Amino acid sequence: MTHDELLEWSRRAAEWALAYHKGLRDRPVRAQTNYGATAARLPTAPPEQAEPVDTIFADFEAIVPDAMTHWQHPRFFAYFPANAAPASMLAEQLANAIAAQAMLWQTSPAATEMEQVMVGWLRAALGLGAHFTGTIHDSATTATLSAVLTMRDRALGWRSVDEGLFGAPRLRIYASAQTHSSVDKAVRLAGIGQANLVKIPTRDDFGMDPAALDAAIRADLAAGYKPAGVVLCTGGTSIGACDPVADCLAVARAHDLYTHVDAAWAGSAMICPEFRYLWGGVDGADSVVFNPHKWLGVQFDCAVQFLADPAPQIRSLGLRPDYLQTLGQDEVVNFNEWTVPLGRRFRALKIWFVLRVYGLEGLRARIRNHVTWAQELARVIGDMPGFTIVTAPILSLFTFRYGDDAATENLLAQVNNDGRVYLTQTRHEGQFVIRVQVGQFDCTRDDVMTVATVLRALTHTDGGQCL
Ligand code: PLP
Repeated sequence: MTHDELLEWSRRAAEWALAYHKGLRDRPVRAQTNYGATAARLPTAPPEQAEPVDTIFADFEAIVPDAMTHWQHPRFFAYFPANAAPASMLAEQLANAIAAQAMLWQTSPAATEMEQVMVGWLRAALGLGAHFTGTIHDSATTATLSAVLTMRDRALGWRSVDEGLFGAPRLRIYASAQTHSSVDKAVRLAGIGQANLVKIPTRDDFGMDPAALDAAIRADLAAGYKPAGVVLCTGGTSIGACDPVADCLAVARAHDLYTHVDAAWAGSAMICPEFRYLWGGVDGADSVVFNPHKWLGVQFDCAVQFLADPAPQIRSLGLRPDYLQTLGQDEVVNFNEWTVPLGRRFRALKIWFVLRVYGLEGLRARIRNHVTWAQELARVIGDMPGFTIVTAPILSLFTFRYGDDAATENLLAQVNNDGRVYLTQTRHEGQFVIRVQVGQFDCTRDDVMTVATVLRALTHTDGGQCL
């Protein structure tokens, strides 16, 4: 394919995309397919001879869309959203056209400098202190890993950077059971080990108990462990739990521990000042991550990590071999030194487009609507016979049950086979519960209320029996 032909096919792709998005409400949200079905439709070997793009495009239309779960469907209420606003898609098209590898300032001056400025814009938009700088990762998992690696090396006086963990004291990281599994993954990858991730008990609101954190650190010190850092969550994945950030940071600071706040989902809501109480005190953290690729409309992948001081993370992750030097310009920022991979995409462009096309007020209006509609839906479901709201909305996430574990699981399967909406599950205090999060960029109040319509239909709410 030549670039001239690409122009024509890009037009076709854009037309396809328009029809796809306009037709989303007519599709089941979750893929209605079986494992192996797509693979069975694909040849087992690549073609030896070139094929016409027409044929490939037709195969794409025939094979792919029906076997996808539609994350941009306005009735996607599963997991957390992965919104892709049209403005973000446009920016990605442009970034794709340039196809830069933004590992160094020299390889991508505009990408590096726009990343610096966009981190600043988002810092201000979220109401974070002016002392934060930061960088953009592919995912919150990578940002959390970077923070945990920094905790590790800082606690070991940076000896681990050269010597590894051989002969080092046993490190401890602290988090509540409500934090995302990316924290577990990070301690594993950092060589700290799952057993040294201490899960701190939570209070009645499922936020970390600061007194229990303090007690755990003291007990570990007495037992000869080396406490290294604390990971807090604002908007945990399961039910949206929020740790009391200020109080936990005070404990961490008293023990000289490095701190990281995971607000992967809830961080976007902090563009609305009225929600900032959920992470009150966050300015005292060393590191904070949030994913514009979840709720803000900046499409996957885009995770912003704010750093009170980037120097410790660069000390852990940064390398500057001869072949990556920017000769004569030692002072420039090379973002690969702040992150795990060397190669980096131009992710700041889509933030720039989204913030400008919708404006903070446009984005706030969406998030406020989502929160209001989630609260309304929770009230409606809570009033339906046989249904129990298990956890009340935290921002736009709540959980409910219908009878016992088996009945709730059965209902969830029916909901997702029905296809009009997509919900997922978690386990809360030992019970199987269904999660609802409202956050899709284009969803309307009617889309949200469809959840109640579907639940009523499937449970014959008047008769009280699950199908
Ligand atoms: N932290 C929280 C609270 C999450 O909900 C998630 C994913 O949903 C993650 C971290 C991991 O996000 P990512 O896919 O960007 O690694």
